[in-house]
Amino acid sequence: MATDNCLFCNIASGQDAATKLEIETDEFVIFRDIKPASTHHYLAVPKQHYASLKSLNKSHDGLVTRMEEGLKRFLEDKGISETDALFGFHLPPFITVGHLHMHAIAPRSEMGFFARMMFRPSAWFKTTNDAHLYLRSKEE
Ligand SMILES: [Zn+2]
Ligand SMILES: [Zn+2]
Repeated sequence: MATDNCLFCNIASGQDAATKLEIETDEFVIFRDIKPASTHHYLAVPKQHYASLKSLNKSHDGLVTRMEEGLKRFLEDKGISETDALFGFHLPPFITVGHLHMHAIAPRSEMGFFARMMFRPSAWFKTTNDAHLYLRSKEE
């Protein structure tokens, strides 16, 4: 299940002492992005190693929903508004760690120029809504 030398596998299994897990469920963990693109920037990372959204199919639609709900509930508990938040995934080759991770960034309106480029819904960044459409269009 875990892949050697994968940073996010280490973090998701609680083996990275430098990373504080904010939330842990059976399926995924939530922790702060080390390079925040706005005031609040968190990642939801599945415990199972998937290289990217491209490794997933229709059967993972529920996992993506639960990661998104987990992030939204977490933001809500911290009093962070999700009306001005951005949720989504990078696609290869624009990925810094080759282990699936969902970004949650808020407020979206305070993102800097380069962050906006990096997280602009596009060929290299899919919002969770686009991710669902993409997965539902794939075979199991
Ligand atoms: Zn991994
Ligand atoms: Zn990313």
